Amino acid sequence: MFGKGLVKGLVITWKEFWTPKVTIQYPEEQPPVPERFHGRLSIEVDKCIACGMCVNACPNKVIELKKQKVGKKQFLTDYVQNVQYCLFCGLCVEACPKDALHFTAIFNMNQYFYDNLPVVLVQREAPAEPVEKEEPAAKAGSGDKVKPKPKAKVDKSVPAAASEVAAGKAPDKEGQ
Ligand code: SF4
Ligand code: SF4
Repeated sequence: MFGKGLVKGLVITWKEFWTPKVTIQYPEEQPPVPERFHGRLSIEVDKCIACGMCVNACPNKVIELKKQKVGKKQFLTDYVQNVQYCLFCGLCVEACPKDALHFTAIFNMNQYFYDNLPVVLVQREAPAEPVEKEEPAAKAGSGDKVKPKPKAKVDKSVPAAASEVAAGKAPDKEGQ
Protein backbone atom coordinates (compact mmCIF):
# COMPACT_ATOMS: atom_id res chain seq x y z
CA MET A 1 0.00 0.00 0.00
CA PHE A 2 2.75 2.39 0.90
CA GLY A 3 4.60 1.74 -2.34
CA LYS A 4 1.45 2.31 -4.44
CA GLY A 5 0.86 5.75 -2.98
CA LEU A 6 4.46 6.69 -3.52
CA VAL A 7 4.30 5.70 -7.18
CA LYS A 8 1.09 7.70 -7.68
CA GLY A 9 2.73 10.74 -6.17
CA LEU A 10 5.78 10.38 -8.35
CA VAL A 11 3.61 10.04 -11.47
CA ILE A 12 1.86 13.31 -10.65
CA THR A 13 5.17 14.98 -9.99
CA TRP A 14 6.54 13.71 -13.28
CA LYS A 15 3.49 15.04 -15.21
CA GLU A 16 3.62 18.42 -13.53
CA PHE A 17 7.29 18.70 -14.27
CA TRP A 18 6.56 18.71 -17.99
CA THR A 19 3.45 20.90 -18.05
CA PRO A 20 3.98 24.54 -19.18
CA LYS A 21 4.80 26.88 -16.32
CA VAL A 22 2.37 29.69 -15.56
CA THR A 23 4.52 31.57 -13.11
CA ILE A 24 6.14 34.81 -14.23
CA GLN A 25 8.89 36.97 -12.82
CA TYR A 26 6.63 39.61 -11.32
CA PRO A 27 7.04 42.60 -11.03
CA GLU A 28 9.69 42.67 -13.75
CA GLU A 29 7.28 40.80 -15.97
CA GLN A 30 3.67 41.96 -15.97
CA PRO A 31 0.86 39.48 -16.44
CA PRO A 32 -1.55 40.11 -19.30
CA VAL A 33 -4.92 41.51 -18.26
CA PRO A 34 -8.21 41.32 -20.15
CA GLU A 35 -9.13 44.19 -22.43
CA ARG A 36 -11.99 45.30 -20.20
CA PHE A 37 -10.12 44.92 -16.95
CA HIS A 38 -11.16 47.22 -14.10
CA GLY A 39 -7.97 48.61 -12.64
CA ARG A 40 -7.10 52.04 -11.37
CA LEU A 41 -9.29 54.87 -12.59
CA SER A 42 -8.03 57.43 -15.04
CA ILE A 43 -9.66 60.76 -15.79
CA GLU A 44 -9.38 62.97 -18.85
CA VAL A 45 -9.36 66.37 -17.23
CA ASP A 46 -10.04 68.18 -20.48
CA LYS A 47 -13.35 66.40 -20.83
CA CYS A 48 -14.42 66.58 -17.19
CA ILE A 49 -16.98 69.24 -16.36
CA ALA A 50 -16.84 68.58 -12.62
CA CYS A 51 -20.52 67.68 -12.56
CA GLY A 52 -20.09 65.18 -9.74
CA MET A 53 -22.26 62.48 -11.29
CA CYS A 54 -19.53 59.90 -10.77
CA VAL A 55 -19.41 60.81 -7.10
CA ASN A 56 -23.15 60.41 -6.76
CA ALA A 57 -23.15 57.11 -8.63
CA CYS A 58 -20.58 55.52 -6.37
CA PRO A 59 -22.20 53.21 -3.80
CA ASN A 60 -19.18 53.34 -1.48
CA LYS A 61 -18.36 57.06 -1.48
CA VAL A 62 -14.97 56.30 -2.93
CA ILE A 63 -14.47 59.44 -4.99
CA GLU A 64 -13.54 62.80 -3.52
CA LEU A 65 -14.01 65.68 -5.90
CA LYS A 66 -13.26 69.36 -5.43
CA LYS A 67 -14.06 72.07 -7.91
CA GLN A 68 -13.91 75.79 -8.25
CA LYS A 69 -15.89 78.17 -10.35
CA VAL A 70 -13.87 79.92 -13.03
CA GLY A 71 -15.94 82.30 -15.09
CA LYS A 72 -19.13 80.47 -15.91
CA LYS A 73 -17.64 77.00 -15.69
CA GLN A 74 -16.67 74.62 -12.96
CA PHE A 75 -13.00 73.79 -12.84
CA LEU A 76 -11.93 70.42 -11.43
CA THR A 77 -9.15 70.98 -8.90
CA ASP A 78 -8.95 67.68 -7.00
CA TYR A 79 -10.02 64.16 -7.84
CA VAL A 80 -9.09 61.35 -5.48
CA GLN A 81 -10.02 57.67 -5.64
CA ASN A 82 -9.98 56.01 -2.24
CA VAL A 83 -9.16 52.61 -3.64
CA GLN A 84 -9.33 50.89 -0.29
CA TYR A 85 -13.13 51.18 -0.50
CA CYS A 86 -13.54 50.70 -4.23
CA LEU A 87 -15.60 47.79 -5.54
CA PHE A 88 -14.40 48.33 -9.11
CA CYS A 89 -18.03 48.02 -10.10
CA GLY A 90 -17.79 50.62 -12.87
CA LEU A 91 -20.88 52.62 -11.92
CA CYS A 92 -18.87 55.83 -11.85
CA VAL A 93 -17.54 55.23 -15.35
CA GLU A 94 -21.01 54.51 -16.65
CA ALA A 95 -22.44 57.60 -15.00
CA CYS A 96 -19.99 60.03 -16.57
CA PRO A 97 -21.83 62.05 -19.23
CA LYS A 98 -18.59 63.17 -20.90
CA ASP A 99 -16.85 59.82 -21.12
CA ALA A 100 -14.01 61.33 -19.13
CA LEU A 101 -13.60 58.47 -16.68
CA HIS A 102 -11.98 55.17 -17.60
CA PHE A 103 -10.49 52.09 -16.05
CA THR A 104 -6.85 51.35 -16.69
CA ALA A 105 -5.10 47.98 -16.60
CA ILE A 106 -3.11 49.04 -13.54
CA PHE A 107 -3.85 46.65 -10.71
CA ASN A 108 -0.87 47.31 -8.49
CA MET A 109 -2.16 49.91 -6.07
CA ASN A 110 -0.68 48.49 -2.90
CA GLN A 111 1.04 50.82 -0.48
CA TYR A 112 3.20 50.31 2.53
CA PHE A 113 1.34 52.89 4.58
CA TYR A 114 -2.44 53.01 4.75
CA ASP A 115 -2.50 56.78 4.40
CA ASN A 116 -0.90 56.52 0.98
CA LEU A 117 -3.64 54.32 -0.45
CA PRO A 118 -5.87 57.01 -1.97
CA VAL A 119 -4.93 57.57 -5.60
CA VAL A 120 -4.67 61.23 -6.51
CA LEU A 121 -5.84 61.51 -10.08
CA VAL A 122 -6.02 65.29 -10.24
CA GLN A 123 -4.52 67.93 -8.00
CA ARG A 124 -4.15 71.38 -9.46
CA GLU A 125 -4.85 75.03 -8.94
CA ALA A 126 -7.72 76.72 -10.68
CA PRO A 127 -6.81 79.66 -12.91
CA ALA A 128 -7.84 83.11 -11.74
CA GLU A 129 -9.67 83.79 -14.99
CA PRO A 130 -10.96 81.55 -17.74
CA VAL A 131 -8.43 81.03 -20.49
CA GLU A 132 -10.36 80.73 -23.71
CA LYS A 133 -8.60 81.16 -27.04
CA GLU A 134 -4.95 80.28 -26.67
CA GLU A 135 -5.35 76.59 -27.20
CA PRO A 136 -6.60 76.24 -30.81
CA ALA A 137 -3.28 77.33 -32.30
CA ALA A 138 -1.31 75.10 -29.95
CA LYS A 139 -3.47 72.16 -30.74
CA ALA A 140 -3.38 72.78 -34.46
CA GLY A 141 0.38 72.39 -34.23
CA SER A 142 0.07 68.89 -32.82
CA GLY A 143 -2.21 67.93 -35.70
CA ASP A 144 -3.47 64.68 -34.22
CA LYS A 145 -7.09 65.24 -33.38
CA VAL A 146 -9.73 66.90 -35.46
CA LYS A 147 -11.56 68.57 -32.62
CA PRO A 148 -12.09 72.26 -33.17
CA LYS A 149 -14.03 72.61 -29.91
CA PRO A 150 -12.91 75.57 -27.86
CA LYS A 151 -14.70 74.19 -24.81
CA ALA A 152 -12.42 71.25 -24.25
CA LYS A 153 -9.36 73.44 -24.44
CA VAL A 154 -10.19 75.74 -21.57
CA ASP A 155 -8.86 73.47 -18.87
CA LYS A 156 -5.76 72.36 -20.67
CA SER A 157 -3.62 75.45 -20.58
CA VAL A 158 -3.19 75.89 -16.87
CA PRO A 159 -1.95 72.75 -15.25
CA ALA A 160 0.46 70.94 -17.46
CA ALA A 161 1.69 69.06 -14.41
CA ALA A 162 -1.80 68.09 -13.46
CA SER A 163 -2.35 66.23 -16.67
CA GLU A 164 0.45 63.91 -15.67
CA VAL A 165 -1.27 63.24 -12.42
CA ALA A 166 -4.47 62.63 -14.28
CA ALA A 167 -2.77 60.17 -16.54
CA GLY A 168 -2.31 57.98 -13.53
CA LYS A 169 1.11 59.14 -12.39
CA ALA A 170 0.99 59.70 -8.68
CA PRO A 171 4.69 59.33 -7.99
CA ASP A 172 4.56 59.07 -4.26
CA LYS A 173 1.49 56.90 -4.36
CA GLU A 174 2.63 54.29 -6.78
CA GLY A 175 2.79 50.75 -5.55
CA GLN A 176 6.26 49.47 -4.78
S1 SF4 B 1 -15.80 51.51 -9.42
FE1 SF4 B 1 -17.68 51.49 -8.16
S2 SF4 B 1 -16.94 51.60 -6.04
FE2 SF4 B 1 -15.21 52.16 -7.34
S3 SF4 B 1 -15.29 54.42 -7.48
FE3 SF4 B 1 -16.45 53.64 -9.23
S4 SF4 B 1 -18.60 53.52 -8.53
FE4 SF4 B 1 -17.29 53.71 -6.70
S1 SF4 C 1 -19.09 62.29 -14.04
FE1 SF4 C 1 -17.44 62.60 -15.55
S2 SF4 C 1 -17.60 64.78 -16.10
FE2 SF4 C 1 -18.75 64.50 -14.17
S3 SF4 C 1 -17.26 64.93 -12.53
FE3 SF4 C 1 -17.19 62.71 -12.88
S4 SF4 C 1 -15.53 62.44 -14.38
FE4 SF4 C 1 -16.08 64.62 -14.43
